[in-house]
Amino acid sequence: MQKSRVTIFDTTLRDGEQSPGCSMTVPEKLRMARQLDRLGVDVIEAGFPIASDGDYASVEAVAREIRRPRIAALARCRKEDIDRAWDAVRHAAHPMLHVFLATSDIHLQYKLKMSREQCVRQSAEQVAYARTFTPDVEFSAEDAMRTDIEFLMAVIDAVVQAGATTVNLPDTVGYNIPSEMARIFSEVCLRTHRKHPEVIISSHCHDDLGLAVANSIAAVQAGARQVECTINGIGERAGNAALEEIVMALNVRKDVMPFETGILGEELFPSSQLLTEITGVCVQPNKAIVGRNAFAHEAGIHQDGMIKNPLTYEIMTPHSVGVPSNSMVLGKHSGRNALGKRCEQLGFAFSRRQLDAIYKRFVTLADRVKVVQDPDLLAIIEQEIPQVQSPPVQLAAEMA
Ligand code: MN
Repeated sequence: MQKSRVTIFDTTLRDGEQSPGCSMTVPEKLRMARQLDRLGVDVIEAGFPIASDGDYASVEAVAREIRRPRIAALARCRKEDIDRAWDAVRHAAHPMLHVFLATSDIHLQYKLKMSREQCVRQSAEQVAYARTFTPDVEFSAEDAMRTDIEFLMAVIDAVVQAGATTVNLPDTVGYNIPSEMARIFSEVCLRTHRKHPEVIISSHCHDDLGLAVANSIAAVQAGARQVECTINGIGERAGNAALEEIVMALNVRKDVMPFETGILGEELFPSSQLLTEITGVCVQPNKAIVGRNAFAHEAGIHQDGMIKNPLTYEIMTPHSVGVPSNSMVLGKHSGRNALGKRCEQLGFAFSRRQLDAIYKRFVTLADRVKVVQDPDLLAIIEQEIPQVQSPPVQLAAEMA
């Protein structure tokens, strides 16, 4: 694999599905998995088979049908979990087992009541067990970011020796800031790759402080070659790192981040839309990349600039992420240029004086209603410029 290739590990169907209101049925997960395949993700984590019969069934269904990506099933570091996970995922063309155990002192003492020695031993034993089923085994050190780094290195060394090919270091509680991510990932990557250059180090960030995407990017810059993320950033609590944001940050800022992913940008918006349709959970309007307003320009100066040259206010085109077209919202912040453009799109060509008259009425209306819709605009035009002909029908159809 090229050193600059970043594996996109999608966990929409596992961590994402764990978020309140986002649970999905087996057919819904299958529909989403087909879209994730079209999107070009490298890994689909399809569920946690021992957690429920529904999770087992969805992992099995996805494993049987979706053939291109690697399909991962989650398991704790216990034989019965791994057996159940393997049973569900074994039908996949490229099955992956993902085993995890917490490594931070706070988790070991209070949650697992386990010593550090037991933690290392159990991790290595269960990774070796998972390896008896498939060569594609990921180990996650839960709460890795709050784990003593020397102990974390000991765990990584043990699981890699036992056969783990990917080591994931989650910021389980969304506590880190980007500079810490950079420091920890640099050190872990340097020390791990000295002995095991082929091992992929992975990040898995949560958004409790709104830093999940920034932290994932910091991890990649520091040597991580896999990011775990979800569509629309759904996931436990404040969610996971948003796939669409990570991918577009890497795409748009290739000048400073020379990395590749297998993602097809044009499928980002359709993926977001499908997830919203399935779960009924909408994204906030100002959400980056896929929000309703992500490509909407209302301020007059911005609209004027956009009409003259989109590069003035647009760092990527709506088309590049699969958004049908950018929407100029006509509101009280809009200027004459945007209004004139809309009139043109509606099939009118006005003189400067005519447009001024329409603009005056438009501003008065925009003060009362937030967004001036086309029928309102047409009514203004009819009243102000009575001699004007209605636009041809085919142009009216273009308005939609
Ligand atoms: Mn998580």
